[in-house]
This record gives sequence, structure tokens and C-alpha cells, in this order.
Amino acid sequence: MSGILVYALHYEGAFNKNSLGAVSEGARLAGELGGECHVVVVGDKAGLPDDLCASLGRYGATKVFRGEGPEGLAQPVVDAMAKVISEQGHRYALFGGGLLGFEIGAGLTARLDAGVCMEVTNVRVEDGKLVSERPILQDSSVSDVHYRSDVGVIIGRLNAFEAKEAGEGSAAVEDLQVDFEPHSLKARMVTRGEQRGADVNIEDADILVAGGRGLGKAEGFETLEELAGALGGAVAATRAVVDAGWYSYSAQIGQTGKTVSPKLYLAAGISGAIQHKVGMQGSENIVAINKDANAPIFEFSDLGIVGDLNKIVPKLTEAVKARKGG
Ligand SMILES: Cc1cc2nc3c(=O)[nH]c(=O)nc-3n(C[C@H](O)[C@H](O)[C@H](O)COP(=O)(O)OP(=O)(O)OC[C@H]3O[C@@H](n4cnc5c(N)ncnc54)[C@H](O)[C@@H]3O)c2cc1C
Repeated sequence: MSGILVYALHYEGAFNKNSLGAVSEGARLAGELGGECHVVVVGDKAGLPDDLCASLGRYGATKVFRGEGPEGLAQPVVDAMAKVISEQGHRYALFGGGLLGFEIGAGLTARLDAGVCMEVTNVRVEDGKLVSERPILQDSSVSDVHYRSDVGVIIGRLNAFEAKEAGEGSAAVEDLQVDFEPHSLKARMVTRGEQRGADVNIEDADILVAGGRGLGKAEGFETLEELAGALGGAVAATRAVVDAGWYSYSAQIGQTGKTVSPKLYLAAGISGAIQHKVGMQGSENIVAINKDANAPIFEFSDLGIVGDLNKIVPKLTEAVKARKGG
């Protein structure tokens, strides 16, 4: 079968945008290959009703395999997808990226001895096969990746594939019995929720307080939120910290994140890598706090403060509050 199998992540009765993008892309490519796009979902059956699963048909999926198992964890999905591929003979598995997509894709690749390409930004059909396009050399060039394995795994860059409703289609829903591997059930979900800052549109903010690895830990963002609150601005972040799970991807500034041009961009604990700079260099005023006087960010800052952000940021917040009379 020349089909494509996609994983879709759901949360509180909806599939996330990244997954819907993957389903749309899978359907487009399957159409060009003359096959079908199928989807695997895994979770508690009560949280995955027929109509929710069938709604993936609007994005071009023809069939949804619904596995009953732990939600939001990688290994159970690897088991489910490996089973479907071995029984149905899909030629490709496609993921929308993000931490879970990377983990499942890597696990599936190992399980099936498949070829894999990550950080894919585009996929095209050539001679009846898929070719993944992956930016390389700091995104200055694009490499073509061809698959020689029986199954090819494609892991997109987060939100690289656009979610497109293709019509009123309704996917068939089939329950899937999966015998999970013993190790797949060893992890359990302790808590789940929206990442801090995911609801703020940083592109509209006049003042951005951005944090990097110099914050030391996720909790470091609490002090930045306080400063941003005092200034009436929003919080942004570098890729290093969003990849580490310290802050929301939606707050990432840079080459693979957002491009912003606020009146004030205050960078705390950010080195100033070129991939970050391209997303914020249009800011009217750049203020950087870094303990390393030689950090590259000082080369393009209007004002540089050399010192420990743990001491400077709380004092700055206090000073702003005092100035504003609160
Ligand atoms: C293809 C590609 C795309 C990328 N896209 C992006 C992108 O979109 N956005 C992005 O941001 N990055 C991107 N990157 C990653 C980029 O190259 C850098 O790795 C990243 O920006 C570094 O993040 P950082 O400044 O938080 O961390 P680091 O480079 O580790 O810098 C941390 C800084 O904090 C300072 N510091 C440490 N402790 C303190 C303290 N107590 N007080 C004050 N300062 C302190 C240090 O001196 C250091 O300068 C990309 C990379 C690649 C290869």
C-alpha cells in the first residue's frame, strides 16, 4: 500500500494545530502517490469519541485507527503505529514535529529499522516516492533526503505543515487492539496543561522581556513575567529554552520562531546567536543583561548591562513598580 500513516495528538476534545497540519500534508502527499492517509490516535476511548476521530476526514484522512491506551506518551504510540504499519503496509509515517513527534518518530524508526529525516519543512513526490526537504547550514541551504528503507519516517519542523480543511469528509474509525510492550507502560502522565505564555501574542507587544538559558531553569521565567507585567509587556524566549521545555514554543523568537519589532526588547541571559538575532534585530531599542561582557548580544544592543540577571531583574522590576507608583 502506498499510504501514509500520521499520528494526531488530541487534548481536551480537540486535535492540536500541528497534528492537523500533519494530517493535511499526509493527505496531500498520499493523494499524489495514489494512496490514502490514515491516522493513529491513542488515548482513553471516552476522550476520543467517534465524531472527534471522524472529523479528521475534514483534513483529508480516510481512516482513523483508535488505540485505547495512555495518552500523550510516546512509546504506546510507537507500539500502535508499528502494528498498523506491519499489518497495512504503509510506506511512510509522518509527524508534525514538536517534542512528542520527535520522540515517537525516533522510536518508530528504531522499531522498524526505517530511514528518518527530521526538521523537514517540505515534502515532494518524485518518481512515485517521497523526498524530504530539510534546511541545513543554519537554514542557508536545503538538502533533499531520499528513502531507501521499506518505510520512510518524516518528522516535520513544528508547525511546518499547514492545517487545511479539505471539505466535509468524514474518516472511518476503526478500533485498534494493541499489545503494548512492557516498557511502553512504565511512564505515566503526571500532569498536563498549557505551557506558560502560550496564550500571549508576542508579535503585537510593544515591550518584550525575553529570556534565555542564562535563566538557569524554567522557574526563572517567573521573574521575567513579573518584570514584563510591571512594564506592561509580554515574555519571549530563545529556542534553547523552549526546546528545553522551560517556556512555550509560541514565545520563541528567531529564525525558526517569530520575528518581532517591539519598541523595547529586553534580553536576559541570551547570548545573541545569529538565529536569535534575525528575529529581533528590528526592535527599536535593545537592552541586554548578560554576565559575560563578551556575549555577542552586546554587539547589537543599544544598552548593555554586564551582570547577574538574578540580581538585576528583580531590582529592575522594583524600580519600574516604584516609578509607576505601585
Ligand atoms: C537551524 C537553527 C535554527 C535556530 N533557530 C533559532 C531560533 O529561532 N531562535 C533562537 O533563539 N535560537 C535558534 N537557534 C539556536 C541558536 O543557535 C542558539 O543556540 C540559541 O539562540 C541560544 O540560546 P540562549 O541565548 O538562550 O543560550 P546560550 O547561547 O547558552 O546563552 C546563554 C547566555 O546566558 C548568559 N548567562 C548565563 N548565566 C547568566 C546570569 N546568571 N546572568 C546573566 N547572563 C547569564 C551566558 O553568558 C550566555 O551568554 C537555532 C539554531 C539552528 C542550528
